[in-house]
Amino acid sequence: MADAAIIYNTETPFTHDAADIIVRSMSDNVDFPVQKAFLAAASVVFQDMFSLPQNESHIGSGFSAGNMKNGLHIMTLDEDEETLGTLLRMCYPRWMVIDCEPLFPTLEHTLAVFTAAKKYAMDGVEREVRAVLVAPRFIEQNPLRAFALVMRDNLYDEAKTCARYTLRTPILSKVYMPELEYITAGAYYRLQKYHVLCGIAAEGVSQDLRWITNESGTWFECALCRGNSVVGISGDRRKWVAKWWADFMVEAKNALRERPCGATVGIGSEVVQMAIEKANVCVTCRSKVFREMFQFCTLFSAEVEKAIDTVEVEFGAPLG
Ligand SMILES: [Zn+2]
Repeated sequence: MADAAIIYNTETPFTHDAADIIVRSMSDNVDFPVQKAFLAAASVVFQDMFSLPQNESHIGSGFSAGNMKNGLHIMTLDEDEETLGTLLRMCYPRWMVIDCEPLFPTLEHTLAVFTAAKKYAMDGVEREVRAVLVAPRFIEQNPLRAFALVMRDNLYDEAKTCARYTLRTPILSKVYMPELEYITAGAYYRLQKYHVLCGIAAEGVSQDLRWITNESGTWFECALCRGNSVVGISGDRRKWVAKWWADFMVEAKNALRERPCGATVGIGSEVVQMAIEKANVCVTCRSKVFREMFQFCTLFSAEVEKAIDTVEVEFGAPLG
């Protein structure tokens, strides 16, 4: 192919003056002038390639005889410009690429860089990219899609993180998306199983209230609101509770079964807002309910998260 069709990438840190080799993206013909030392330090595959004579054509898929540009050997790699741009930058010291953000604009791009890092045995880069894969900005918007994408690459720890985010929406409300084709029915089954088990664990928190150690709270104290319900709290003590609060715990139980995560019973959640509205009707509860429910729900949410932490599902293996 003629050099005219090849783009020369001279963005940071690819400066020709310091470069001693050119990396070319095979699929879209972009040349990156780079420094071998950084690449060799990051990748044993590159280190081995550079240690072999570079005027011969037998070196992996990389060098070819006589293929030079501006006095530098050209090493052709399969990946496209976007993937190589990030991969190569990851080999450089952080201070040299600090202005190159975002290195990981999308989850797909991050996965492509991860695959390349694995292929070239860049252990340090691979570790860093794995941490990026579970960034909330990639998962929050569509956790099921993120789950499918990381499962495609058998990244089970990351899949578990994504699965945790899927708990925020009811399992039956999940819609079809093309990425689901990447996972097996077995993997999808395990995801559903996880949701069900987390639902049971979270529901349990609303049923067994022995984690409540604070006996104050207008729902325990207000004589005007007292209903027929009694609950057991820490230390095997039993307490009368306000009708609105007993209703709230029933709503919370149902919501947690559907969406087992702390946010379901957080102060901003629908069930809590409904409870506060009901309490606001009472002259006694009105003045304290928001502050006290805020404290209570912070604890409640944390207990739900703790309960979900204990749920184990192996996404990489059959359930047995
Ligand atoms: Zn009251």
